[in-house]
Amino acid sequence: MTTPASPAGIPDESIQRAAFLRQEIDRHNELYYAQARPEISDRQFDQLFAELTELEQKHPALQTLDSPTQRVGGRPMEGFVTVPHRVPMLSMDNTYSLDELRAFDQRLRKLLDEEPIRYTVEPKIDGVSISLIYERGLFVRGLTRGDGREGDDVTQNLRTIKTLPLTLKMGSRPIPEILEVRGEIYFAKKDFAAINEARDEEGEATFANPRNAAAGTLKMLDPKLVASRPLRVFVYAIGYDEGLDGVADQVQALAMLRDLGLPVVPNVQVFDQLDPLLHYVEQWASQRHELAYEVDGMVIKVVDFAQREQLGTTSKSPRWQVAYKYAAEQAITRLLSIDVQVGKTGKLTPVAHLEPVHLSGTTVSRASLHNDEEIARKDIRVGDWVVVEKAGEIIPQVVEVKTEKRTGEELPFSFPTHCPACGEKVERDEGGIYIRCVNLDCPAQIQNRLEFFAHRSAMDIEGMGPAIIKQLYETGLVRHLPDLYRLTIEQVALLERMGKKSATNLIKGIEASKTRGLARLLAGLGIRHVGTRGAEILAQHFGSMEKLMEANVDQLAEVPEVGPVVAESITRYFNHPVRRKIIDDLLSLGVSMVDTSPRAIVRDDGPLLGQTVVVTGKLAHYTRESIHQRIKQAGGKPSSSVSKKTHLVVVGDDAGSKRDDALRLGVRIVTEEEFRQIVGDP
Ligand SMILES: [Zn+2]
Repeated sequence: MTTPASPAGIPDESIQRAAFLRQEIDRHNELYYAQARPEISDRQFDQLFAELTELEQKHPALQTLDSPTQRVGGRPMEGFVTVPHRVPMLSMDNTYSLDELRAFDQRLRKLLDEEPIRYTVEPKIDGVSISLIYERGLFVRGLTRGDGREGDDVTQNLRTIKTLPLTLKMGSRPIPEILEVRGEIYFAKKDFAAINEARDEEGEATFANPRNAAAGTLKMLDPKLVASRPLRVFVYAIGYDEGLDGVADQVQALAMLRDLGLPVVPNVQVFDQLDPLLHYVEQWASQRHELAYEVDGMVIKVVDFAQREQLGTTSKSPRWQVAYKYAAEQAITRLLSIDVQVGKTGKLTPVAHLEPVHLSGTTVSRASLHNDEEIARKDIRVGDWVVVEKAGEIIPQVVEVKTEKRTGEELPFSFPTHCPACGEKVERDEGGIYIRCVNLDCPAQIQNRLEFFAHRSAMDIEGMGPAIIKQLYETGLVRHLPDLYRLTIEQVALLERMGKKSATNLIKGIEASKTRGLARLLAGLGIRHVGTRGAEILAQHFGSMEKLMEANVDQLAEVPEVGPVVAESITRYFNHPVRRKIIDDLLSLGVSMVDTSPRAIVRDDGPLLGQTVVVTGKLAHYTRESIHQRIKQAGGKPSSSVSKKTHLVVVGDDAGSKRDDALRLGVRIVTEEEFRQIVGDP
């Protein structure tokens, strides 16, 4: 399936070259991500990628579904389509007690008439459950767990995951007609920390744990933004299959998944005795901290599928598996000092410096104290002995003060009344919990804002890191965002460690950022409470900066997911004359202020604008995925069930109850042919 059958009019060498490039890119991806031993530089990799993209653009017939260029879908989704699971994704019983594991084993032995039982013990990754569907070896769909019966179709976002194979490896066994694999989407510890750091800068709430971060990322609308966050995947089960032979137990299932090229969860062990099993579980309580990703427990599963069948499920979870979860670890140490940092929006954040202490596999020397009220509430003083814990096992927090250890020499902390960066008087948010420097010229804020603006989740200016920004600020070249677009190569080349070449590249990067579009610009401005997703929603709704700035608080608050607090923040932002001037200047310097995403093109005049459309039965010209895509492109919203709110039902061959529902509710029914006329497909 990697070699298209000689499409007419395409030179043979282009076909061969495209096939070669696909293969090479996949190989280098594997070397880089799975084996961590790249053979070529990032730049060389980018060149291969660019060449393939160009070839596919020139000859669209060369673009295969499994092409690496399809990993980062250029087609943002409007919301997500809900799709039922073939087999429900049940939840799992949890326990924190080894005694309960013993009880679990006894219960199962009794139910199985004392037959011997083998168990697998698998690390429980702190991520989001996912269902991955392969048809004839091709990755066609990925669904979130949702409510267990139906989940959101997040296929486009999953395509951004470098370790997720888009095609299964042809091994000795035949590829199954349909294979649904269950797994976990997660972030590596270091990536999770980086995302939270960026969010903190952004003034957005940090994710409590990698699971929340993964869930939030999967829900983002722009797959390109998803691609900027390095999600990963492990698989651990088969959910459903057609045409799969020779798999009778979990050990065989995992081996087969591995053979097919899927990233199977590592460190799985098989036990036929309970005591060694319990020992293994206990051993991982500390060993898990050495892993690059977060493991919050171990899953114990019956190996044999026939035994599983016999054990069955309760109303909510299978009887044949249980998750043992590890409790959060704590440590006691001394708080040496409290530092106050100034963020991009002027927010003052107190940070505790601790005597280094070992906690959950890392050395902890800093902890977030959140805000002044938190310090007052917990009565945290400099010199105190404090209990620290990793929330979600990642971010250290001060949980409580050991007041019994006080000597009387501890010093209560007084929160600064003036900004530590610029010396101006600070203010408390209206009714809020944060204290802020409101001086728009505060150097700490300006540099943080510039850094944020250039970040890859915003305007994505390559090569503009903190060191360059600091120099640009200190030399006086850049004081406000528009100054960036007035820079010349000659000016930049004079900075330290900057040659003519890197200066040229930086200016190129700045130039390229002009066309990122409204959503990224809004994300980059650092409006309080407006993160990447909020920016996407606003850009999509208003279409242009002009319309957005004209909107009043009520109009803003009506936008889905925006609400009054965000609406208030946006109007406050644009009512400021200095910021108005910044926007005007950016516009006159050529920065795009319209929504440029593909969905914007159909938004105003799509033939299905605002209509909810249900598809049922077999279609001749579309797959389920492609017709849903087509509905979205035409401005409509695909849905899986017929209700009074449905505008249109597209009926193919062998349509069942949905057609009856449509007739009963008086919803308009069209054939596939009529649908094609409506959306203007030839
Ligand atoms: Zn300041």
